[in-house]
Amino acid sequence: MALVVQKYGGTSVGDVERIRNVARRILNTKNQGHEVVVVVSAMAGETDKLIRLAQQVIPSPDEREMDVLISTGEQVSIALLAIALKAMGADAKSYLGFQIKIATDSAFGKARIAGIESEKVLNDLKNGRIVVVAGFQGVDESDNITTLGRGGSDTTAVAIAAALKADVCEIYTDVEGVYTTDPNICPKARKLSKISYDEMLEMASLGAKVLQIRSVEFAKKYDVPIHVRSSFNDNPGTIVCKEDKEMERVVVSGVTYNKNEAKIEVMRVPDVPGMAAKIFKPIADANIVVDMIIQTSSTEKGCADVAFTVPKSDFTKTLQIVKEIIKGFGGKEVKFNEDIAKVSIVGVGMRSHSNVATQMFSALAEEGINIQMISTSEIKISCIIDSKYTELAVRALHDAFGLDKPPMTEEK
Ligand code: ADP
Ligand code: ASP
Ligand code: MG
Repeated sequence: MALVVQKYGGTSVGDVERIRNVARRILNTKNQGHEVVVVVSAMAGETDKLIRLAQQVIPSPDEREMDVLISTGEQVSIALLAIALKAMGADAKSYLGFQIKIATDSAFGKARIAGIESEKVLNDLKNGRIVVVAGFQGVDESDNITTLGRGGSDTTAVAIAAALKADVCEIYTDVEGVYTTDPNICPKARKLSKISYDEMLEMASLGAKVLQIRSVEFAKKYDVPIHVRSSFNDNPGTIVCKEDKEMERVVVSGVTYNKNEAKIEVMRVPDVPGMAAKIFKPIADANIVVDMIIQTSSTEKGCADVAFTVPKSDFTKTLQIVKEIIKGFGGKEVKFNEDIAKVSIVGVGMRSHSNVATQMFSALAEEGINIQMISTSEIKISCIIDSKYTELAVRALHDAFGLDKPPMTEEK
């Protein structure tokens, strides 16, 4: 007998027939003698719909009330799933985040889980019950409802698996696992049988939304194995686990893209010590995370141009801040571009290979794609390009690194 946490995403519970299908899967697992805790997302499109509704009232709605609103999608799906399970003769019970005390901090819209009281759930399991938990939500110290950021049900599932010391956390979604790139834009994408926590962290942080980044952080910290698989068939998916020898030999394991960033360029900044701090401190103080930064010499003597990217959701706020800052040095020009995309290649084996970057730049050049910014780390290289070339770039990079075939390995 194993303790299994299963998470079903929005598409998997997108309509009543799919909810029945999910209930059958859960019962199958239960009938094999396992204890099952299920985490569900809101039905597909529901969270977006709720956000649009609030934005019709006011473009930037109050953050506390937003969480009260957008957490409701999950309440609908847990109730429907528990109803379906009971209709099939199972003993099931649904819970909202606050009822099993998924305690979080108070960062509305991007709260972090601080702890989970597992007693109630363990008690239900002992009594043979299937426990159905609302994903994406928690409660802070003052009993405010919080949400964990888009895609947050993955994190609820892994955190519960960690708290209950579950044997496995299964993430059921609309694709068969983690692929070398998004299978919905690259038909040649290949399913990976295994991926390390570190690579998955990079892939998730660079745009692969198949797992929310915090869920992978949790899994790594508490050593929870994740099995990402399809809710529509029984094919084995992808195991996300600790790095092993086999994985180390892969040079590039994936290609990702992110269209959710915007670029801001501050032109003709005096090239003197302290300028970067002057620009970026007020941005950091506003809790805005800057991603890439490049500084180049300006057309004006003694000056530099500073370009950087921020999440699109923080773009308007950042632009206002920057316009204020530059008044301090004489009101020079600010340029911006929201039509950018970040394409990245990821791989732990990159550490020991010197020509990967050149290969990436050549592949983009061959398609006539201009690189606007570059950033690198030990295990990834990212380029900012015009967003209209995203799909072309992803496919070109996927081909250039031969990702449709079994892994590239080190030459011995
Ligand atoms: P769910 O609603 O089940 O949480 P998501 O839409 O959040 O599902 O995540 C699944 C989607 O992630 C897929 O439909 C796919 O388009 C996208 N995706 C992006 N990159 C990858 C990747 N490398 N492997 C698999 N899926 C990916
Ligand atoms: N329903 C939430 C969202 O759409 C959480 C999730 O699906 O994981 O982001
Ligand atoms: Mg998701």
